[in-house]
Formats: sequence, C-alpha cells, structure tokens
Amino acid sequence: MIPHTIERFPDLHPPLDAQSALAEANRCLYCFDAPCTAACPTHIDVPRFIKKIASGNLRGSAQTILDANILGLSCSRVCPVDVLCEGSCVMHGYNKKPIEIALLQRYAMERHDITRPVPSAPRALSVACIGGGPASLSCAAELRRHGAAVTVFDNRPQPGGLNTYGVAEYKLRPADALREVEMIRSMGVEFRQAEIGTAIRLADLESKYDFIFIGVGLGAMERLGIPGEHLPGVIDALRFIERYKTQPDFQIGSTVIVIGGGNTAIDAANAAVRLGAADVHLFYRRTEKQMPAFPFEYDHSKIEGVRFHWLAQPVAILEENGRAAAVKFADTRLAAGVPERVPGTDYEVACDMVIPALGQSRSTELFPVETNKGIIVVDRPTGRTSNPKYYAGGDCVNGGREVVDAVADGKRAAQGMLAHG
Ligand code: SF4
Repeated sequence: MIPHTIERFPDLHPPLDAQSALAEANRCLYCFDAPCTAACPTHIDVPRFIKKIASGNLRGSAQTILDANILGLSCSRVCPVDVLCEGSCVMHGYNKKPIEIALLQRYAMERHDITRPVPSAPRALSVACIGGGPASLSCAAELRRHGAAVTVFDNRPQPGGLNTYGVAEYKLRPADALREVEMIRSMGVEFRQAEIGTAIRLADLESKYDFIFIGVGLGAMERLGIPGEHLPGVIDALRFIERYKTQPDFQIGSTVIVIGGGNTAIDAANAAVRLGAADVHLFYRRTEKQMPAFPFEYDHSKIEGVRFHWLAQPVAILEENGRAAAVKFADTRLAAGVPERVPGTDYEVACDMVIPALGQSRSTELFPVETNKGIIVVDRPTGRTSNPKYYAGGDCVNGGREVVDAVADGKRAAQGMLAHG
C-alpha cells in the first residue's frame, strides 16, 4: 500500500485486544434461535463463534465463521452491522449496547493463517467463474469445498473485485482482500487474469466447462450528462477510490465537490478529507432524509468534516486553464418526490476536483441469459439463470448490495450447480 495512505486511513474501528475480546465474548447470551444469525445473509452461527472465542478456541471460531462465509474477514470490516447482526442483537431489548459482533469476528479471523479443507477425491464437475469479486470467490470456494474444479476469470491485474479496488481504505485494505484470495487459491481454485469476450471467447468456456457462473458486478458509473464532465479534474468515485489506493503519486484537490447521496459518495468524500483536501462538499439533489446512504455512514462523514448541501442539481462543470474549476448548480424542489430544477436559481461553487458518484451502469449484455433492465434474472434459491448452463450472483443480480449479499449469492449458486451437476 502507498505509505502516506497508511497514516491517513487508520482503522475506522480499532481492533479488540485479547482482554477486551474475552470480556465482550462473555457478554453474549448465546441465544437459542439467535436473531443475529438470522439477520446475517450468510447465516454465520454467531453465538457459536463467539462462544469459541470465550473458550480460547480461536481457530475453531474462525472455521465456524468460514463455514458460512468464506469472506468472513472482509465482511467483519465492511458489513453494515448496525442494520444486520448487531442491529438485531437482543441486547437492544435490555437497553444495553449490542454485542460487538463485527469486532469479535475480525478478532477471530485475524489471528490465524486459515486453511480450508477440500475433499481428496475430485468431483466430476468443472465451473468457470467470471469476475474476481466476492460473489465469484464465494462461489468458487463453495464448489472447491465439494471437490469441483474451478477457474476464476478476472480482467483486473489482481483478483478480489471491489474488495481489492473499490472499498475505501479506512474500511478494508487491499492486503486483507488479497489474503482471502490466497486462502481460496490454496483450496485449489485457479485464477486467470483475462477479459472474457476478447482474450477468451464465451463459446470456448461453454464447451470446456460444465457451468459458468456470472459474478461480474456492475459496470462503470453513470454519467452526469452535463457539459464539462470530461474535463481533467473530474473523476468518478469508483475510479477515484481505485486510483488513490493504487497510485503512489495520486494528488487530491484542495476544494473537492462530490455529487451523489449514496454510500460510495460518502466513501469518496471521507477519503478526500483524509487525503488532505482543505474543503470537501457533498451535493445531493434530494433532501437529507432521502439520501440513500446508511445513517451511520452519514454521521461518520459529518465527523470527518464533509459539508453537505441538499436540493442541489449540477447543471455544468466550468473550465479554467483546461481543467474543472467550478460546478454550476441549480436549486431543486421535489414534485411528488421527484427533484425538479427551479428556474433562475443557478449558482457556482469553485473547486479543483469533481467526483460524481451516481449509480453504476449494467454490464451483462455479453451473456446469453434473460435480463431485466440489465439485471440478470435468476431463480433466487439456486442462482440459476434462464440458460441452464449459466448461474449468476452478486451485484449483477441484485443491482448493487453489500459484500455479504454477494457472498450469500455465490454460495447459493454453487449449491445450485452441485445439485444439478
Ligand atoms: Fe449474542 Fe446478541 Fe447474538 Fe444473542 S443476539 S447470540 S446476545 S450477539
């Protein structure tokens, strides 16, 4: 990782030490029919792994987590636990602080070089997983666990997808994402860095493999569709996060404008602050109440020093000396919940970097499967598409959710293929 980013991106939540982990584990009530387990999309047996921490069996605790969720380490750092496991902890009912499940999970996961067992006898089933992100990794690991032969095809230099390239540094570092990739590689999963459709033809995969799993995520970010968005100094949020994580000489602007109201917009704004921008402004065309970002992400961003502006629509990015130098906004008002521009309210905000963070486009047209508005249609319990050769999961199926949802999708699809293979 780039040295200066290590200092600027300390852990969002410092890890537990042995003493505090033990104390926290002993607070758990080990509930029967634990609501925290039900709230986890991968159904990690939370009371069981916490009990193992309490009894000093950290390896057993980590294996319990991995039995349900092969990306248990990254999920312990990026899951929105306030709305999942910790949000459903029974401690809320006693007016007590919920058990710090994520920190305990991370405590167990970071203490071992984990290896996962694979059957000695191979199974006559071969699968190509397209995409190197959480859905494909989860699918590949589950298939290997049952003896299938799996190759993951990824078009980026390193596997891991958004976990490696797209998650803000203060949540998950590339080294942790790649550590999980290595664990999955050690199970016998083959990784190939190649673009499907160009370097490798889909027809070749169809003839070579029994099944193909599509885990390609979403495509590039949507454009603003306003004049000036191609100017130097304008960089979309995903490319911004990828660049500062991978380029040692990446330069942040002094006054940065982020456009959008989702969690990625918040991640980009927080990162801009940490990278040294003097002023970071986030503009959203609806109101604070309608912002899609999780409330705890928004609260954190206010603490970081990001300034928020509501009911503001960008109408042009203005140029000076060949670079973005200001954004022209107009006020909006909501008409039946839809923002509309208010005439005569234009104003300009000077800046030297603009980070649009709108939704991501779809990138599924390559595949011979049924889609709905670019989203692949699957049978949810099995991940099977309209084409029995293809299964799918993750963002390209759910439209863009959490890492843990992609992990659950990949695992379900693997089980679907094992049942039909
Ligand atoms: Fe422990 Fe809370 Fe889960 Fe109950 S709901 S098992 S107290 S973490």
